[in-house]
Amino acid sequence: MKDLATNFTMRMDVNRAAEHLAAAIRFKTISHQDQSKLDRREFTALHSYLRVTYPLLHRMLTREIVNDLSLLYTWKGSNEGAEPILLMAHLDVVPVEQGTENDWVHPPFAGVIDKDFVWGRGALDIKNSVIGLMEAVECLLRDGFAPTRTIYLAFGHDEEVIGMEGAAEISRTLRERGVRLAYVLDEGGFIRIDGMPGVKKPVAMVAVAEKGYLTLELVVNEAGGHSGMPPRRTAVGRVAAALCRLERNPFPARLTCPVRAMFESLGREAAPPYRYVYANIRLFKPVVMSRLSASPQSNAMIRTTIAPTMLKGSDKENMMPRSVSAVINIRILPDETRESVTARVKNVINDPGIIVMERKNSSDPSPVSDVRSPEYIALKNTILDLFPDTVVAPFLMVAATDSRHFASISRQILRFSPSRLSQEDMNLIHGTGERISIKNLEEIMTFYAELIRRTAL
Ligand SMILES: [Zn+2]
Repeated sequence: MKDLATNFTMRMDVNRAAEHLAAAIRFKTISHQDQSKLDRREFTALHSYLRVTYPLLHRMLTREIVNDLSLLYTWKGSNEGAEPILLMAHLDVVPVEQGTENDWVHPPFAGVIDKDFVWGRGALDIKNSVIGLMEAVECLLRDGFAPTRTIYLAFGHDEEVIGMEGAAEISRTLRERGVRLAYVLDEGGFIRIDGMPGVKKPVAMVAVAEKGYLTLELVVNEAGGHSGMPPRRTAVGRVAAALCRLERNPFPARLTCPVRAMFESLGREAAPPYRYVYANIRLFKPVVMSRLSASPQSNAMIRTTIAPTMLKGSDKENMMPRSVSAVINIRILPDETRESVTARVKNVINDPGIIVMERKNSSDPSPVSDVRSPEYIALKNTILDLFPDTVVAPFLMVAATDSRHFASISRQILRFSPSRLSQEDMNLIHGTGERISIKNLEEIMTFYAELIRRTAL
């Protein structure tokens, strides 16, 4: 990372920051699908820890506790007319998969610093950004920095389970106050140190859109009864046939605008022959589409995908079920909607006896942020100045982030944090042995400080 000998002097104590991150990891702020299992004390204890650890921040910014467990900070800018920005992360982490506890080098909630790494659940997703943002703000305050535009920091408490109680409520709070944001920066993309096909340099991936999230339940009700006298056509058979038809008729592949923009950016840096392919993506579309369709990861970039996830029939082996249901989880490409996708699903199933119901927590794809906007360009330039050896590329995110709750009050939404990850490191997110290097934590702190300094002037 380039030395930041700019006109402001920041002295960040990275070893102390690493201790702060390790301490934050020790709070077991674990999200559960069943939110009644949430240990609320762990969240409030983390709030208190942040309060004592960042005294200046807590003196100079207004802190609001939203829905008991989420945090919203307001750093008031001097210019009331300037559009505010919102920087976000989340306080919750995913649970540790049962049976993997002993596979961790250090226990997941011990918050151990060892061999230049901070270890534990949340080190990459995403207490690193919570601490990175706090360190950055505390340091800027120490330096006497005062922003021109207002800066919000938002930390939801249920991102890992869709964020309806945390980020959605924070957004509602701001909306009710009439707040309109210039941009939101959330997690999402990161720096892929292994590059991309054809690009050797690390690639900083900035998500400019995220796919929609839709869960449909397919239900067939029937009479039930003894399995010794089954009808010719059973509910289980009908649901199974519906799932097979969906699998045989995938959604068509499309190159949406964020994916085209990604190839354009990569095309400028790629080595031949990738350079020509990326730069002339329309020309090579048939080849590219068939290559991308080959792996689940890249297929998700170009298609609305359907994953059957749950199936339910009878509880007894000799009893016909009275009701059979299948749950399918769908990720929607930009330009499509829940309605259009549901209509196509019904069309493909082509069985009026199957009831198709939308489950709650579904959302349309996000709007696509503009890569020519001043906000994207400012973010890109900050990344390039701090990480001069990287290539910056926009992309379409398959997973959902808390930022989508802000779509109605923000002009742009960008999803990026400068974690440097290899292909292998990516498995650490939500996986076993999560950890971050202290060096990378320093880069994250510096990145946030520099971004705030530049965009909040
Ligand atoms: Zn996360």
